[in-house]
Amino acid sequence: RNITGFDRVMLYQFNKDGSGHVVAEDKCGDAESFLGLHYPATDIPKQAKELYRLNSLRIIPDIHYEAVPLQPAANPATGQALDMTLSILRSVSPLHTEYLVNMGVGASMSISILCSSGAGTKGKRQLWGLIACHHLSPKRLSYETRTICEFLGQAISFEIITKTDAEDLDYKIKLQEVHSRFVNTIATCQTLDEGLRQKPSDLMDLVGAAGVIFHENHQLTSFGKTPPEDLIAGLLEWIDRQMGEEEVYSTDTLVTDYPRFSPHQDVASGLLALRISRAQRTYLLWFRPEVTQTINWGGNPHKSTIADRSLRVSPRKSFELWKETVYLKSLPWKTCEIEAALELRTKIIGIVLRKADELALLNIELERSNMELDSFAYVASHDLKEPLRGIHNYAAFLLEDYSDKLGAEGANKLATLMRLTQRMEALINSLLHYSRFSRTELTFQSVDLGKVVAGVLNLMAISQPTPTEFRMPRPLPTVQCDQLQVVELFTNLISNAIKYNDREQRWVEIGYILPKEMNPNWPQHLDRSQTVFFVKDNGIGIRAKHLDTIFKIFKRLHAANSYSGGTGAGLTITKKIVERHGGSIIVESTFGSGSTFYFTLGQPT
Ligand code: ADP
Repeated sequence: RNITGFDRVMLYQFNKDGSGHVVAEDKCGDAESFLGLHYPATDIPKQAKELYRLNSLRIIPDIHYEAVPLQPAANPATGQALDMTLSILRSVSPLHTEYLVNMGVGASMSISILCSSGAGTKGKRQLWGLIACHHLSPKRLSYETRTICEFLGQAISFEIITKTDAEDLDYKIKLQEVHSRFVNTIATCQTLDEGLRQKPSDLMDLVGAAGVIFHENHQLTSFGKTPPEDLIAGLLEWIDRQMGEEEVYSTDTLVTDYPRFSPHQDVASGLLALRISRAQRTYLLWFRPEVTQTINWGGNPHKSTIADRSLRVSPRKSFELWKETVYLKSLPWKTCEIEAALELRTKIIGIVLRKADELALLNIELERSNMELDSFAYVASHDLKEPLRGIHNYAAFLLEDYSDKLGAEGANKLATLMRLTQRMEALINSLLHYSRFSRTELTFQSVDLGKVVAGVLNLMAISQPTPTEFRMPRPLPTVQCDQLQVVELFTNLISNAIKYNDREQRWVEIGYILPKEMNPNWPQHLDRSQTVFFVKDNGIGIRAKHLDTIFKIFKRLHAANSYSGGTGAGLTITKKIVERHGGSIIVESTFGSGSTFYFTLGQPT
């Protein structure tokens, strides 16, 4: 005011919602004071703000000036109107002059104050506020004075940038501490959910919230003060629309913006939402309660413009102090809090990616050690066979050549030794067979499973002493698989179904269920997106406690020779074949009345 001699000079700051308030003022005795008053966003429209951003100084020396039209109005060469954005002599909107006249102003000058570009501003410096100068009568300023004012505006802009950066420094440092501590916790946990559960208070302190909800794949975990969980699915859809391509969204007027939350302003007047993954629907939602505030408005903000009878819009006439108590609002989210949320997102994604990498490495390692184990089983069983043969042969020689010296008891023991070596050989052969099966490359081709099963049944029928009825309600489909392995798979399951059956009337049913035919009666843990094949019998059944063990190698539930004998490797091989095809196998059984083996071959239908 000393430099320019204006009657009233104010520092006016814009709020996030576009409204503003007078933060400092110096005036002469006659001028009314506006210090501390708030003005609604509509008082300075968006286009006007953009002009303030582009022109650092704007002066109206006489509010009652007469505007002079530009001649000609359109550029004759291009037919376009002249862009006068940067013109000092450009006339101001009649609405603006009327506004100033209503305020009792005779001349005005505004010096723009810009701050650094914030998030989402594409690097443009933003309008922080204005130095607004009013004079009660017309006033002209020399070019030198205007230049000094412009310079002053720039100096203050830089000062403000430095100040806002340093603002809340302690708070920012605290947020940073909470952030690092929290990220360390998440990094040591298996899942994100587990990590977030470790210290929910940190998760809330990270952005200064009173409650937080973690949402992933329709699962919710909430801490602190949060709105009812059944409202969250709808809220997330709404948030998605608000966010668009951004990953963060914040509001301090949630209840006004999203009226479905209206009874919950006590916990959810403010919302800061962070989207971590679209695919998994992973979100963090922080909530803040309502905080009532009293605002001193310069005039009634709800009457910023008045439409008169001729439907001309004119600015309001009264600028008298108007107090308003504001409800349904939370404390505003600070830029540093929103940045902390975004930083957390980056860290979480980093951790998740690193874990995926570690898992991939572990899988490679597992595959390698599995292969080593398979080849070890092969080499070991192969090399064991030779000495075993020797033991068997020498026992046979002894029995043949020395049976009179050994006596009946000795001969008996030798015969047992020979039986045991035969059993051991059978086991070793099974192991060899298993490891060979695990190591051979699969050759995928279209295989008619109906033909496979028919071939298997033919062989079985020949070797079956007791007749068995084979039931096939409908022909099996053709699928992509390794023919040899699938023959082995059906052979194992069907031969077991015949073997472990001591009824007069035995039957075995071989069939399949399409995904669309599944109903709740089928076992719950079946993969319902694939065709499920089954082999069902009316045999001896398996007790529930043995349902898992039967798939382990050399696991038999009976004496070596009962039920036609066996080594206990059949189901292990069967499981391996199914898994190598990308499928899975389960068994359901009722002891004493029969079993059903269900399996898939890894083909979504
Ligand atoms: P093996 O038939 O050589 O003993 P498997 O691995 O094929 O080896 O089977 C393991 C065990 O599972 C069998 O010893 C038997 O006790 C049980 N089992 C397999 N299939 C059936 C079935 N259909 N009904 C009853 N028990 C079965």
